Amino acid sequence: MNLEEVIQATWEKVKNIDDKGLLASYIPELVNVDAESFGVHISTIDDTNFGIGDYRERFSVQSIAKVLSLSLAYSLLGENIWTRVGVEPSGTSFNSLVQLEADKGIPRNPFINAGAMVISDILLSNLENPKEEFLSFIRNISDNPELNYSGKIAASEKSVGFRNVALCNFIKSFGNIKNEPSDVLDFYFDLCSLEMNCKELSDLFLFLANNGCKISDNSPILTKSQCKRINALMQTCGFYDESGEFAFKVGLPGKSGVGGGIVAIHPNHYAIAVWSPKLNEKGNSYKGMKFLEEFTTKSQLSIF
Ligand code: GLN
Repeated sequence: MNLEEVIQATWEKVKNIDDKGLLASYIPELVNVDAESFGVHISTIDDTNFGIGDYRERFSVQSIAKVLSLSLAYSLLGENIWTRVGVEPSGTSFNSLVQLEADKGIPRNPFINAGAMVISDILLSNLENPKEEFLSFIRNISDNPELNYSGKIAASEKSVGFRNVALCNFIKSFGNIKNEPSDVLDFYFDLCSLEMNCKELSDLFLFLANNGCKISDNSPILTKSQCKRINALMQTCGFYDESGEFAFKVGLPGKSGVGGGIVAIHPNHYAIAVWSPKLNEKGNSYKGMKFLEEFTTKSQLSIF
């Protein structure tokens, strides 16, 4: 089977479907994109690279960055992080406050906003210059010095981030945020503002298909077990309350963001990134989900 042909045929088919999604407008800056953009890029362990559509266009990766901040915290502190954040799917939306009360400020998992804030807090406590060191971490993994935050998007989100402010302060009230909430939130908004194109994203995430090792020189970023566990979390929690549906229809570990990006991993094989900015009602890219479902069905390359 020729991967490029499958991607091309799938992209053409999904490009023309009726997109029932909507742009994420709760962050004002996120509506300043071409809503019809649609790009895909695959990077494989055996060095196949193929992109189609708007795969060179940068977009806001938003929650996809939560996998990277978790990777950095996990590589620094190992299993200790799991005393602060859980590993269960939440079954609620990404910005939900409801379970925190019953769970006494321990977020269900690191991929909902609450969990990513606790991971941000951990990084703030353990790094001298978290903003710079996080950027160096991801630039090093993919040997890509071009990766960067968008000050515009971070400021836009901050200007309307009332729910995230509430979440962070609520967790602080249980003692599970150690730093100043405003510092944690600034770092969290910076993480979410990272911009990448589909090629940069699939190249960067390929280390999670490579047992946690950097592709260019095989140096370890995560241990094999840590890498497996991050993939397990992407499988069970990567799409909020649509994670079951993604496992059912696509069958790959993955992570979405409200900028319309999705990255998915086939361990020991490939990383694929899709971008289409209009979101379904669960906050995941409408066409991105459809593309990946069709792609893994046609190619039969899912993990199950
Ligand atoms: N920065 C966004 C927020 O906190 C991230 C949400 C997402 O991509 N699901 O609301």
